[in-house]
Amino acid sequence: MESSPDLSELQTMTDELDALRDELNRHNYAYYVLDQPSISDYDYDQLYRRLVDLEAAHPELITPDSPTQRVGAKLSGRLPVVSHEFALYSLDNAFNLEELQSFEQRIYRVLERSPEDLTIEYAVELKIDGLAITLTYDQGRFSLGATRGDGVQGEDVTANLRTIRSLPLKLHQPKGHELPERIVVSGEVYMPKTSFERLNTEREAAGETLFANPRNAAAGALRQLDPSITASRSLDLFIYSGRMGSLAPESHSETLKLARELGFRASPYVQICSGIEAVWTVVQKWYEDAVTFPFAIDGIVIKVNNLRLQEELGYTSKTPRWAIAYKFPAEQAITRVFGVTLQVGRTGAITPVAELESVFLAGSRVARATLHNAEELRRKDVRIGDWVLIQKAGEIIPEVVRSLAERRNGSEQEYSYPENCPTCATTLVPDASGPIIRCPNEDCPDRVRTRLIHFVSRDAMDIDGLGEALIEQLLASNLVKDPTDFFTLTVEQLESLERMGERSSQKLVETLKRKKQDVPLARFVHALGIRHVGKGVAQLLVEVFPSLEALSAASREEFANIHGIGRQIAESVAAYFASESTQALLQRFKDLGMTFSEPMLKPTDGALFGKSFVITGSLESMSRPQAAKAIEALGGSVKGTISRTLDYVIVGDKPGSKLQKAQALGLTVLEEPAFLELLKGS
Ligand code: NAD
Repeated sequence: MESSPDLSELQTMTDELDALRDELNRHNYAYYVLDQPSISDYDYDQLYRRLVDLEAAHPELITPDSPTQRVGAKLSGRLPVVSHEFALYSLDNAFNLEELQSFEQRIYRVLERSPEDLTIEYAVELKIDGLAITLTYDQGRFSLGATRGDGVQGEDVTANLRTIRSLPLKLHQPKGHELPERIVVSGEVYMPKTSFERLNTEREAAGETLFANPRNAAAGALRQLDPSITASRSLDLFIYSGRMGSLAPESHSETLKLARELGFRASPYVQICSGIEAVWTVVQKWYEDAVTFPFAIDGIVIKVNNLRLQEELGYTSKTPRWAIAYKFPAEQAITRVFGVTLQVGRTGAITPVAELESVFLAGSRVARATLHNAEELRRKDVRIGDWVLIQKAGEIIPEVVRSLAERRNGSEQEYSYPENCPTCATTLVPDASGPIIRCPNEDCPDRVRTRLIHFVSRDAMDIDGLGEALIEQLLASNLVKDPTDFFTLTVEQLESLERMGERSSQKLVETLKRKKQDVPLARFVHALGIRHVGKGVAQLLVEVFPSLEALSAASREEFANIHGIGRQIAESVAAYFASESTQALLQRFKDLGMTFSEPMLKPTDGALFGKSFVITGSLESMSRPQAAKAIEALGGSVKGTISRTLDYVIVGDKPGSKLQKAQALGLTVLEEPAFLELLKGS
């Protein structure tokens, strides 16, 4: 049956939303769990805006797992988890004066007041680039410290926080008051600029990945299992809010004053302003002064000062209505391009890189900037000899924003994109689905090398003592072609290489032997380097398909049915496991005697295994989350949006527009009694 135009439009919208959510969720995971962002904050904020705008236009398509509905990301599972007594929120963003003005207009609207009868007083504070934490004090003693996590639950980092010298372990008695039984404050743990730069210099020398910004560095330092590592990373702390129990302050500025009396280090950079125009003056002044602060700031936080008004304004699911973060524009510089080189990644993606006359930008010297892909290079019309504007917005590798055509003198040369791979000369092929051009040769030396580096990296197989330089030597001496070869290396072979002594060779052989046993399957799947499969996706895959056999037998549709996995990923995974060379590689791993540890299983043999559901409206016998649990316990999966691939739509009372969509698509709709039957019969 031909679908009507508005349905296909809806499907396109659903697909775009799914893709955006998938992409943002992947970035969230990289940023919050791994502390290694994969894109700049600026680009993240643009993608996020797009999602907010689309969801605002189609509220019926909002899903509970949408990044707009959640604070932060999943917890890493490494540290103990604690539930917060008070939920911790994120902040809405504003990027210019107009957006600050609409923030103020919304405040008047919600309060049902007007500027004529009420002038709003704001506390304006620096937005320190660190991570949010909450501290609990019982009877004046520090009893619990946790990260914000997903806002509801965070990670218990009490022992690590105790290593921060400015954190009071015991509170002072406030003037003229009893110390309340319990005090809960929130604040920002950050790494001062000098420590951040030192840490990255040391990591660079040791060949380790650099932290993209002080915030990720602080998060990495605080979320260590060993407090002595935290202690060595010179963290500091500012408190920016608190629940003061019986001390009952009336304004935010009073809270900060009380916090200081209690012995906390509250930010000294706070200004009280009447009306948003006055706020804007401070914002501009601090933006100009940003580089002079000893800690990195990524914006300015503006809060309604009066706590009674704060309460009246309340919260959305993710942010307070009484506060907003003004985000600084990305940091930029101008320099000249003297060449363009191409990098070949492990999936074959070719990234053009501008080679620059080096400039100082955001605290480090920059000599290369990414041009992302061939289309961007063409669109930005970057020529060799051009002056270009580059920017760094939270990432290590800066990007070229645009070329300054007005500065050309005629000597500039257009870059002609080669038709063949610069490394192996294979004809390059464009991706069907996007602007990326790839080297399709699986055996391209650059791809082989980057694949091997990825395989042993910390988040993948985590093999100590096997760094980039050694991998290059192993390749050059033909000792390794694919990752299975690592495991058959002998001490003699390793010893024959430069800078490899007997002890380090023996140690590496032992490590490799050990790393073959009880490999967590998710790590292994991530290590394989399948396109679009990072740590998070690998985990989702093995939760449903807990063995290499199960992964190899699954279809594209079955992958796409996994909650959190979009179509593009499903396609890539299915194609990977279907390929003969993959199967041959997996066989070689088996022949080596590689064994896997049991992943945490979701049932794969339940009666509803492989079936996908949407639940809409309220059910009588259970809540929606309970229904979802019941389905998942039987191996089924629950989705947030209606799509053609669903097996069942469960409808309760007041189902809303999802029911109409389900009917229009001809899906199987079950009312509550039939649903209960299905559960029972299963
Ligand atoms: P946010 O950083 O926009 O604002 C909230 C945070 O500000 C608080 O949790 C707190 O930690 C901090 N803060 C600092 N000073 C403060 C003060 N004086 N008062 C109150 N809070 C203060 O929100 P978020 O949810 O923590 O992070 C979202 C942002 O993180 C995005 O806008 C994006 O820039 C970045 N991000 C980037 C990526 C990426 O891949 N690059 C991924 C996820 C998030």
